[in-house]
Amino acid sequence: MKTILTGIRPTGNLHIGHYFGAVKNWCKLQNDYNTFIEIADVQALTDNFNDPDKVRKNVREITIDLLSCGIKEDTTIFIQSMIHEIAELTVFYSNLVTISRLYRNPTIKTEIRQKQELFGNNGESVTYGFLGYPVSQAADITCFNGELIPVGEDQTPLIEQCREIVKKFNSIYGETLTMPEQLLTKTPRIKGLDGNEKMGKSLGNAIYLTDTTEDVTKKIMSAKTDTNKIKKDDPANPEVCMVYYYHKLLENKNIETVCNECKNGTRGCVACKKELIEKMEEFLTPIREKRKYYKENPEIVDNVLKEGTNKAKKQAEETMNKVKNSIKINYFE
Ligand code: AMP
Repeated sequence: MKTILTGIRPTGNLHIGHYFGAVKNWCKLQNDYNTFIEIADVQALTDNFNDPDKVRKNVREITIDLLSCGIKEDTTIFIQSMIHEIAELTVFYSNLVTISRLYRNPTIKTEIRQKQELFGNNGESVTYGFLGYPVSQAADITCFNGELIPVGEDQTPLIEQCREIVKKFNSIYGETLTMPEQLLTKTPRIKGLDGNEKMGKSLGNAIYLTDTTEDVTKKIMSAKTDTNKIKKDDPANPEVCMVYYYHKLLENKNIETVCNECKNGTRGCVACKKELIEKMEEFLTPIREKRKYYKENPEIVDNVLKEGTNKAKKQAEETMNKVKNSIKINYFE
């Protein structure tokens, strides 16, 4: 059985973009692969180093979200910071990557641009830790002999970076590390309520799995629709409407009617939004019920994390022994 490594940063609760863009797929993959899910708290600290409480709180919260979405209790969910070997590997790998190569990594380039838009172009937004996170991700992957890495297209450069490190390591020190491959996820980026290309925690355009009926109602009622539609019976273009987009995402069986009525002006936006609220509630209700169960039984959640971390630790120790032998720092052995 091949090993899959995937991860999530504990910086907030999961939203439906996470679910439809990643977690739904992980729920399927866990049945066919030896699946490791990393709660990437160390990586979360690279841009949340001044808010450790947020990261700490969200380690359990995100685990509850994952379990409520259908990740099984016996799937390996582990806490990154508790596996010291990842940090150690990162140090060794950092000799194998140039700084200019990291700056040229397209994912990093995009993220630097986003940071500069937020914080200004004073260079202080790019820390050594941030610039090096693809190196640390290579450590995450190789530490557990990750063979397949489920990613979206925008993360392809990170896997490419990891493969370069593995290739260089193996060519210098001898065949030691497993070469990972990406498992490209077909699901596109899930768009935000405001029509933004990405639903994101920091963009304020997300529906969270923890949202109440009231939150969901408020958010959907203010979702972006076709701005050319002024009156209830004006015909409109569903392709530019976020309400239609989420009807599709939730696989509304009524989708053709929604589309036709929108186009010919027999469907008002308010009625359409109300129908979407119903569908969203149908989707969220079972997740909320499972969330309630795990919230009331925190020892089960802690146990999942402890057992997952123990299993990950054993694998990490094995890899570390091999790596230390290869780079000849196994003194006294
Ligand atoms: P992050 O919150 O950045 O740690 O994301 C964890 C996983 O969820 C990654 O695989 C992301 O690509 C995925 N993800 C986050 N937001 C979205 C979105 N709006 N659409 C699709 N996938 C997403």
